[in-house]
Amino acid sequence: WKVVVTDWEFESLNYEMDILEHDQIEVLPVQCKSEDEVIAYCQDADAIINQYAPISRNVIESLQHCKVIARYGVGVNTIDVTAATEKGICVTNVPDYCMDEVSDHALALLLSWTRKIPMADKETKQNQWDFKKTRPIHRLRERTLGLIGFGKIPQALAEKVKALGLNVLSYDPYFPEEEAAKHGVKLVSLEDLCRESDIVSVHAPLTESTRGLLGDQEFKLMKDHAFLINTSRGPVVDETSLIDALENNLIAGAALDVVETEPISRDHPFLTMEGVILTPHMAWYSEEAEKEMRSKVAMGVADVLLH
Ligand code: NAD
Repeated sequence: WKVVVTDWEFESLNYEMDILEHDQIEVLPVQCKSEDEVIAYCQDADAIINQYAPISRNVIESLQHCKVIARYGVGVNTIDVTAATEKGICVTNVPDYCMDEVSDHALALLLSWTRKIPMADKETKQNQWDFKKTRPIHRLRERTLGLIGFGKIPQALAEKVKALGLNVLSYDPYFPEEEAAKHGVKLVSLEDLCRESDIVSVHAPLTESTRGLLGDQEFKLMKDHAFLINTSRGPVVDETSLIDALENNLIAGAALDVVETEPISRDHPFLTMEGVILTPHMAWYSEEAEKEMRSKVAMGVADVLLH
């Protein structure tokens, strides 16, 4: 079997090979930047392991005997799942390797913003020992956190913020109300979530129906002290609308682990905006999560090829 890793970026194949070590399997790590490169490397593959490269309908139609496309990570937005399904190709993901990490990261961003840690750190190192520079800071207890999407990651976050005394709302049209109530979370409409939240944290997956889910209308409804966190996928938030909302003080700030186009361009307005905290799509990462993700992606391939 030929297994192609379309965008290899780790130091070795150790975790993958722990699972895929088999005399019938050859693993080929490459770095495809375009659809044409994916087609060139993958057309005779039996399995594809993918991270960023586009596995579009064109790519899928070019595959001669591929049985499985396995995605590193939760989202499968790089893969045309409909086209794969039509061709009888399994698509696998790793849905559960980093719930602790992403919920910790969203919480870290929430606390960094609320306690003004990036600003206090910068001021203290560059200028002076003076807490007044950070005025005003408000108490977090009894503030409202709005979670967009109520999947595994925001459920973990909701558990963690209980300790902080936050009220938690969520907008998730597919999640049962009674289940949310068991987590102490009230399901509301997107409009009510935007109106009532002091902090809005985005966790909906990127699909055709969530692209641009937060745009001009939603930012207009938000409180002017509202703070947006996005650890999901950049395009779920309309970037032009967000820049406009920040420039016109419709909301106070944003912490973004993901942006529309990654890596972010060096002249992007976010890089110089005071109210914006950026991290480089790292919410998923810990040594333990990386090992789990890479082992489980390989298990997805082994399940299809070897069983
Ligand atoms: P999940 O699959 O457990 O849950 C997704 C939830 O979103 C479901 O409850 C679903 O009903 C809901 N949803 C679907 N469409 C919606 C819509 N239109 N509006 C609101 N909710 C909607 O996902 P999860 O494990 O909680 O992960 C959430 C997202 O986080 C992933 O899709 C992925 O894009 C992102 N993620 C990012 C990182 C990172 O490093 N930044 C790491 C892992 C996951």
